Amino acid sequence: MSLDAFREEVRAWLADNCPAAARGPGEAIPIGSVRPIEPELLAWRHALGSKGWSIPLWPKEYGGGGLSPEQNQVLQSELRAIEARLPMPGMGTSMIGPTLLEYGTEEQKLRHIPSIAMGDIGWCQGYSEPGAGSDLASLRTQAVDKGDIFEINGQKIWTSGAQFADWMFALVRTDPNVPKHEGISFMLLDMHQPGVSIKPIRLIAGSSPFCETFFDNAVARKDDLIGQLNRGWAVAKRLLQHERSGQGGLGEGGPRHLGPATTLAEIAKTYIGVDQGGKILDSSTRDSVVRFAMNAQSFQLTQRRAKEENTSGKTMGEAISIFKLYGATLARDGAEFRAQMMGSQGYGWEGEGFATEELEATRAFLSSRAHTIYGGTNEVQRNIIAKRVLGLPD
Ligand SMILES: Cc1cc2nc3c(=O)[nH]c(=O)nc-3n(C[C@H](O)[C@H](O)[C@H](O)COP(=O)(O)OP(=O)(O)OC[C@H]3O[C@@H](n4cnc5c(N)ncnc54)[C@H](O)[C@@H]3O)c2cc1C
Repeated sequence: MSLDAFREEVRAWLADNCPAAARGPGEAIPIGSVRPIEPELLAWRHALGSKGWSIPLWPKEYGGGGLSPEQNQVLQSELRAIEARLPMPGMGTSMIGPTLLEYGTEEQKLRHIPSIAMGDIGWCQGYSEPGAGSDLASLRTQAVDKGDIFEINGQKIWTSGAQFADWMFALVRTDPNVPKHEGISFMLLDMHQPGVSIKPIRLIAGSSPFCETFFDNAVARKDDLIGQLNRGWAVAKRLLQHERSGQGGLGEGGPRHLGPATTLAEIAKTYIGVDQGGKILDSSTRDSVVRFAMNAQSFQLTQRRAKEENTSGKTMGEAISIFKLYGATLARDGAEFRAQMMGSQGYGWEGEGFATEELEATRAFLSSRAHTIYGGTNEVQRNIIAKRVLGLPD
């Protein structure tokens, strides 16, 4: 089918299936069974999922759209044209789904991927533990073979969205008597079971985006072991590459929003002032605004080039850490610069003395620090780049 014919098909399908309630500005459509959702939006999410267009590039046999990259571009441009609200990006589509496509058995793919397409199952990531963050392989949560099942005991921390998740992909220790990387397994488990309990962690920025997760004789099915027993480290590392690909702006959603440079320029004009010719008053602020604009633009072009040159469609390997590191640093420094230019107005928390934009700047400043931590800290990305990309000695 030609791309023009495909565009016509997409338009006709959207006209029939995308309701008015799912068009125009609004939040992303909730996924999973825990968050409330309006019936019309649920019907739209299911329509999109049944068509395979919530995961347009994945194979049809597992519920994907089976589209080519060119067809996907057409689909995305038509979705944008009607301002269709889409299911929120989740760990299903960005992390565990692509990992299952690579490491899952046929049975595992058929059992788990269609529900990711439909958005019916929300996933969370059980990697970090107290004492096992950057040094993830030191994790101690233990899974014991009990015949039909694995029995899991231990604790995870910083589990994003655990309170909304239906399932978790987890790293567990299945052999404590071998070198630490060699006794880890990767398994999936249902969060709605008596052995799993969750305690949300409240952040300085006000919200509770992540939790502590406790396992007390929790259960994972034997057939939810992904890859081989005690060989989970390779699966875990590949999943992290998928995660970092999204964080570095190479995921299916495209380049990440880094705060438009024009906004920084406008903020400079408002808070620093302009000369008679309309230029930002202070030359060093002017330099910084231009530097941020150029860096953001170069980064976006590099992301685009990397995506266009990647004809295999596969997530990049270790080099993805370069994108993750640069993107996180740019986002953090941009948010810091924005707040700085606002002076004391950029560090308000609440109250009538602050404009909405100023309060948002404070929150963006605080949460931008997180970009440099989740998915592996900036230092960890530098270590990976040094060792695995540049081949420098340990
Ligand atoms: C917003 C957010 C969401 C998260 N979501 C999840 C989630 O859903 N699931 C999950 O499992 N985890 C999640 N995490 C946890 C995250 O992966 C860890 O915080 C991260 O890996 C760092 O581990 P840590 O906090 O234990 O810090 P540590 O490992 O204790 O590091 C402390 C400091 O030491 C530095 N450091 C440590 N080792 C080295 C080294 N070898 N060389 C140089 N510097 C080093 C680090 O860079 C850091 O600055 C999330 C974190 C955040 C902030």
